Amino acid sequence: MSVPLGDEATWSEASGPGRPRQARLASLLYAPAEARDRSRRIYAAVLDESPRIREGNFETIGADDLERLFHLYDAAFFRGSLSEMLQEDRAYPMAFRLSRRLTRAAGQTIRLVRRVRRGPTVVEQAEYEISVSTTLLFNTFHEVDREVVVGGLACADRLEALQRIFEHELLHLAEFLGWGRSSCSAENFHALSRRIFAHEGVRHDLVTPREQAAAAFGVRVGDAVEFDMEGARLLGRVNRITRRATVLVEDPAGVLFTDGRRYQTFYVPLSLLRRV
Ligand SMILES: [Zn+2]
Repeated sequence: MSVPLGDEATWSEASGPGRPRQARLASLLYAPAEARDRSRRIYAAVLDESPRIREGNFETIGADDLERLFHLYDAAFFRGSLSEMLQEDRAYPMAFRLSRRLTRAAGQTIRLVRRVRRGPTVVEQAEYEISVSTTLLFNTFHEVDREVVVGGLACADRLEALQRIFEHELLHLAEFLGWGRSSCSAENFHALSRRIFAHEGVRHDLVTPREQAAAAFGVRVGDAVEFDMEGARLLGRVNRITRRATVLVEDPAGVLFTDGRRYQTFYVPLSLLRRV
């Protein structure tokens, strides 16, 4: 008669990143047209099921929409293996978050490992969270009118952009679950992204706050601008744009810059600048 190894031992042997999972994930392969079909069906399902996302250029989104996307993608592209692996690792359900702070990366997938006591032993417990940037999502398909490419694929609207972002993050999750680590600058990621989603890259050109400023206020780095400061009209040049513009105004009492001139630096709200 065999003696059970006990819950802990069984758990640590039966799960976690490793060869079986890697083989399972590497066996996923969809031709580009097939990947497109499946993602179009998810697009339609979201419009059908979400209480907020009612059109391609939706105006509101909830974290539950990300969870909905997860289940649709897991079923359509991963044969349910993402939920299964998460369950095996006791990391199910995972967390989904909308982030205003992400202004460069369009999304983020985090693997957090905690050491927890389980019976007499201490084990490592992984937790996962996928965040999507609402700043970039809602800046895009808003005032700036141009082609938008995510993962090497052109996006027709906000929902398509969200799908490409989410697909990228799901690949991070899959790598974490299969390999224990993930990097979208490494070849393994590129191979998975081509085979599963037919992505042709790992970058995005969603509209950043800087580009949004140019569209909304017509102000770009290098522009000559004027603005009022304590009753005086100042003339300067835009040096940098974040949430405000950094404007350099020539002033004999200012700081010496590398061009041999002296400037005072002002941080001016974009709405107060006028181009001259
Ligand atoms: Zn990435």
